[in-house]
Amino acid sequence: MPINNLTTAAPSDIDAELERLNLQLAKAEQAVLALRKRRRDRIERGEIDLADDALIVQIEQACSAADACEAEAAPLEQEFTRRGGWTRAWLVLNTGGHVHRTTACRTCFPTTKFAWLTHLSGHDEVEIVDLAGRAACTECYPSAPVEVRSQTSRIKTPDQLARSAERAQRARAKAAKAAKAAKAAKAAKAAKAAKAAKAVSSPDGTPLRTKHCGLIKTEFTARRSYTDLLSYARYLTRQNVVFHRASIAEHQEDARLILAALSAKHGRTEDDLLEELAPKVEAKWRREHSKWG
Ligand SMILES: [Zn+2]
Repeated sequence: MPINNLTTAAPSDIDAELERLNLQLAKAEQAVLALRKRRRDRIERGEIDLADDALIVQIEQACSAADACEAEAAPLEQEFTRRGGWTRAWLVLNTGGHVHRTTACRTCFPTTKFAWLTHLSGHDEVEIVDLAGRAACTECYPSAPVEVRSQTSRIKTPDQLARSAERAQRARAKAAKAAKAAKAAKAAKAAKAAKAAKAVSSPDGTPLRTKHCGLIKTEFTARRSYTDLLSYARYLTRQNVVFHRASIAEHQEDARLILAALSAKHGRTEDDLLEELAPKVEAKWRREHSKWG
């Protein structure tokens, strides 16, 4: 993370940036070494040719990259000095590796590999020792209490912390996705239930088909069709019961099918429903068919 204001930046941010530059510098220095070796080998084999110029350019580029890292790191190091230093901690990278306050600890070697615990930079040493527990170096932290030294280490490297944060983020995203899916499933179920509440079918579950009103899908249509059919049958009866006998019977049969369907759906008797719908049929008759010529 780039440092905006060096004089107010947190030690952990400054050290994290320093560590980033350190790694970049190490990479650049390795590149310089590898390129120089390649050139030396070529010279030894007597293979000096036009490609040598390109190699020299590459070496120069790697050197400038290393210089740039050092130039960028210098003010950060100066800030550390300006503030009179701050606590820093390193973890030795092997099983049971100890936490040290400096890589110059005399229990370590030049070849020892460390992870710089930059997130603990500037933290209270008591806190660092408490986290380190039995991993706290006795040379670096001689005053660590015995009970703290018996604790299991809870030290994490910045890499481990980043990985845990990523895992937590993934878990949160997964939970959010699951919650969203559950919500959608619930809504779909409710919609289906609402549709089922409105739907109507024959008592055996097959679609409710009528001769004069066609396929009836909803209870609303079923009730309206029922009143239409019976009111119209009454009209036909008044017109000429003998002439319309077949049609009257068909309309009444359709109404009977609807009544059976509603009866099955609600678990009510047909008589009960017939009684409920009779005023509607009567109203329809008075409003419409009775007025027909
Ligand atoms: Zn130490």
